[in-house]
Amino acid sequence: LPPLPSKSPVGRLGDSSFSRYAGATRFDQLPLSKNTVKGLREAGYVKMTDIQRASLPHSLCERDILGAAKTGSGKTLAFVIPVLEKLYKERWGPEDGVGSIIISPTRELADQLFNVLKTVGKHHNFSVGLLIGGRKDVDTEKELVNELNILVCTPGRLLQHMDETQYFECSQLQVLVLDEADRILDVGFKKALNAIVSQLPKNRQTLLFSATQTKSVQDLARLSLKDPEYLSVHAES
Ligand code: ADP
Ligand code: MG
Repeated sequence: LPPLPSKSPVGRLGDSSFSRYAGATRFDQLPLSKNTVKGLREAGYVKMTDIQRASLPHSLCERDILGAAKTGSGKTLAFVIPVLEKLYKERWGPEDGVGSIIISPTRELADQLFNVLKTVGKHHNFSVGLLIGGRKDVDTEKELVNELNILVCTPGRLLQHMDETQYFECSQLQVLVLDEADRILDVGFKKALNAIVSQLPKNRQTLLFSATQTKSVQDLARLSLKDPEYLSVHAES
């Protein structure tokens, strides 16, 4: 029999890889690359948080995710891990260019998640770049940006590169992440985000995480989400 398309509903029901990992509580129970396992272990991450347990079995199967969990619940690893695993599986290399873009609403948050990416991803060979406004020289960035595999950026700076950087290329994008998605989808970033998304290939995985659930049909339509998993994790208090 020919393989089913991975997004077909029949494929989903019969998808043994999801059910097999759905009950996992520790990172070492997930089907992760040795490089990621090592990065997690060295950083002291052993047990998954609730949002990680709920989302990773889906995101590792390359599904789109809309995940909501309060601040401090571990959302960063819930997208950093699937980004690393996807590019690893695709044997992404220096000549493949931008494979993933992670968008964050502020420089500070971008900087924090960039550090998590570097720590957990340190045994992978991907080139990673932090593209945020302010302290860095944009002209130097422009020369380097096409050699980066994973971009962590604020909407404004990413759009600046899309507009100004010669040959800026993201036609091979595999995974788009919106961290603090509710803030990025907010009116303040609407124009920038629309301009960004219009330049990205639609055939990609999209991961949205925020403290509150984003369900605006309009927002989801403009991001071209494909049959996303809605995950909401709220700790009892
Ligand atoms: P959020 O983005 O949901 O606000 P973060 O991803 O910033 O949360 O994580 C909050 C804190 O929890 C960080 O200090 C992070 O290192 C820690 N953390 C995340 N996942 C785990 C885990 N699985 N085990 C232990 N600590 C974790
Ligand atoms: Mg966060």
